[in-house]
This record gives sequence, C-alpha cells and structure tokens, in this order.
Amino acid sequence: MQIIYGFIIATITAFLAYRAHSLNKSGAFAAAFVGTIIFGIGGWQWAILLLTFFITSSGLSRAFKKRKEGLSEKFSKGHERDAGQVFGNGGVATLFAAIHAFYPESIIPWIGFAASLAAVNADTWATELGVLNPTPPRMITNLRKRVEKGTSGGISLWGTLASLLGSIVIAMPAVLLSPTATLSANYFLLITAAGTAASLFDSLLGATVQAMYYCPTDKKETEKHPLHTCGTQTVHLRGWKWLDNDWVNFACGAFGAVIALVIFVIALYVIAV
Ligand SMILES: [Zn+2]
Repeated sequence: MQIIYGFIIATITAFLAYRAHSLNKSGAFAAAFVGTIIFGIGGWQWAILLLTFFITSSGLSRAFKKRKEGLSEKFSKGHERDAGQVFGNGGVATLFAAIHAFYPESIIPWIGFAASLAAVNADTWATELGVLNPTPPRMITNLRKRVEKGTSGGISLWGTLASLLGSIVIAMPAVLLSPTATLSANYFLLITAAGTAASLFDSLLGATVQAMYYCPTDKKETEKHPLHTCGTQTVHLRGWKWLDNDWVNFACGAFGAVIALVIFVIALYVIAV
C-alpha cells in the first residue's frame, strides 16, 4: 500500500518540479522513479531527507543568479535537471532505500542513505555557493595554483564552508528522524564528516580523472560535450571520457556512504572489543 502512496506523491512532486523548470522531461520521469522507491519503500522520514536535498539544491541553483551569470556555461547543464543528474545525485540513495526493504530492522541502509545524500548535498552547496567566494578558487591538487571560478577541481573557503553546511542540513534531520533506532550526536558528526569528505573527493575527481573538454571558439575549458553553448564541437582535453559530471556525482554519493559505513563498522568493532 505504501508503495502506491509513494508513487502518487513522487509523481505529483516530479510534475510540480517539471512545471517549475527544476526538472526537464527525462528528469521528471527519473525523479518519479527515485521518489517512488524512496517514499514508497522508506517512508516519510526518507522522503523528508530526499526533499531537503532536492528543494535546497534547486533553490540554490536559482539564487544569486546575477552574480553567477556567465559562469553557468562552464558547467555542462543549466538548472533544469535531467535524468542523468537525478540518477547521479539520487542513485546511491535509491539503492539504500531498496536495501532497506530487505533489512527493515537494520540501521545500515539509513546511514548509507543519509550519508550519500549529505555527500551530494554538500557538493551541490559547494558548487552553488562557492562561486560567491571573493577570490578565485585554488586547485585541490595544487593549492598554490589559482583557477577561474567554476573550474572543476577548484576549491575555496566559501565552497568548503558551504559543503560543510550542506552536509549538516542533511545530517541533522537524519539523526532526528531516524526510523529504526535513536541516534546519538556521534551519528550527526559521522554523517556530516562523510558528506564533507565526499564533496572534497568530488573536487579531486574533477581535478584529475573527470572528462574535460575545450571549446576552440571561446578558448575555454568546459564539461560540455559534444557541443558547447556556442554550438562549437568541443575537443577532449583530459580525463576519462566516460567519467562525466553525472558519474562524478554518483561517485561522490557512493564515497560518502562507504566512508560513513566503514567508520560505523570500525567504531562498532572497537566498542565491541
Ligand atoms: Zn564555445
């Protein structure tokens, strides 16, 4: 029965997001699917975490539009999210909601779910708010090197603080609304730290192995492929061609969940000893 309610609520939410131009058509179908699994199998606590991510991240992509103008072309997509972005950001969380169906008593799926959402939320907040940093960011692989705002792999004080905040915004309800067990403040620290670390991992991927392209017309580095915003064919510059921004986001969510669960298991083991 819950899965039917989940389907209805997820479909309505996806449709509203589509109407508000937060999602395009493929994004709306993907969000309806992700939402059905998370609302339908998880329940309202899971839905609140997902919605916190979704609402704050789409809100932030719209905010400070004036100051971000001219930067958006550096990122591969506008603020209408497509299916790739929905699965990139919500894929790992969906997986943990599905695992919860098989282990309804276990706290592990909830921790993995929350940490993966904290990770992608931290990353989104860092991307959206980091551009407001007064000075250009520094490359995560070479902190002496300043790069243009919006460059993949660039980090700044504002961006890092934003990622910490983005992680906290998920970790807080994750601890307060835990559906299976009462969680202590340690879990708040665990999820916050995992999310923030994953956001830095995302930057590291952006600086090293993420596929980057170059537009010969604008003489600019871009994530866009095959065509740049100006219509010119972009050429491969560096990184693994298959590792686009969506896969980097997926890796960020997976990294957050794995870090949190590894620390959780080690802590349990140490306490047990
Ligand atoms: Zn161009």
